[in-house]
Amino acid sequence: MSESSRELSRGLSIRGLVKIYPGPVAALRGVDLSISDGLFGLLGPNGAGKSTLMNVVASLIEPTAGTVLLDGQDIVKDPRVMRTRLGYLPQDFGFHPDLTGRAMLELLLTLKGVNGPKGRRSLAEELLERVNLTSAMKRKVGGYSGGMRQRLGLAQAIAGDPRVLIVDEPTAGLDPEERHRFYRLIAEMGAKRIVLLSTHIVEDVATLCPRLAVIRGGELLADTTPRQARAAIDGQIFEGYVDDAGLAALASGASTTTRVLAAVLVEGHTNRVRLHVRDGAPPPGFAEVPATLEDAYLVVMRTPADEIPARLRKASADVAAAEVAA
Ligand code: ADP
Repeated sequence: MSESSRELSRGLSIRGLVKIYPGPVAALRGVDLSISDGLFGLLGPNGAGKSTLMNVVASLIEPTAGTVLLDGQDIVKDPRVMRTRLGYLPQDFGFHPDLTGRAMLELLLTLKGVNGPKGRRSLAEELLERVNLTSAMKRKVGGYSGGMRQRLGLAQAIAGDPRVLIVDEPTAGLDPEERHRFYRLIAEMGAKRIVLLSTHIVEDVATLCPRLAVIRGGELLADTTPRQARAAIDGQIFEGYVDDAGLAALASGASTTTRVLAAVLVEGHTNRVRLHVRDGAPPPGFAEVPATLEDAYLVVMRTPADEIPARLRKASADVAAAEVAA
């Protein structure tokens, strides 16, 4: 293999991925994605197929069809290729409340079969330092906050310096301070490996990920960057105040080019409404506001697959590469 083709084949290459569960339930309906080093966000509502995709990439479940290559090697044919290079932070962890943080991590390292040159305890202490848990390592995990538990989980996931790190819904239930602490750690971890972050929280992706994909009903609806996603709907997002009857009229779908993205009851019967107006003028009283990634996500969610604007569906490869490099 030449140097340049080796370079080209670096990363994860997912082609035509299909997963049909007994039922049958089509959880993935032909997903294509190319993912390089750094943080990649996978956004979608519950039941979209995110965990299925993560589990196939982690080689924990076999796809019905399709291929997944890691740095050019087929992980479906040979799951060991992934299993020896993977760090995984699942949604739920089997925590033993009576163990100290350090003992819990030593146990997880034993289960993972990872050891350090100076032994498992020393490796556990090094990892605890990386996730800022040194001062809490002798406390029982039963008393840890949600954020501390997630950091302990992350310590086990990065043990052995994995090529691929998968984190599934990592910030659910964390308070804002813990969430931001966790963001910093994940960003550090993404410096020289592939990090796949699966979440339904748009802020996670907006904060962390230079690239993202949106999945719904097992179908990939967008493969883009936060900036391109916002640019695709720039000038089309409007905010205004309407009463309940006005909101009902807007939400009734009478207009095919105007969609309600969000509505908040502010007082009495007045609603603050955020609209996507694909074409034409906004309703009276509505003013243009800067588009956010959340707007772009909601537009993708509220629009039939074949009507999603092409620029939202897929970032142009050149622009995306330039943006990620910057
Ligand atoms: P997400 O992680 O986005 O919430 P999942 O990948 O868990 O989505 O699920 C995608 C779809 O596949 C859902 O309809 C879910 O009910 C279904 N599903 C997931 N796991 C199984 C399974 N083991 N057997 C049957 N259906 C499943």
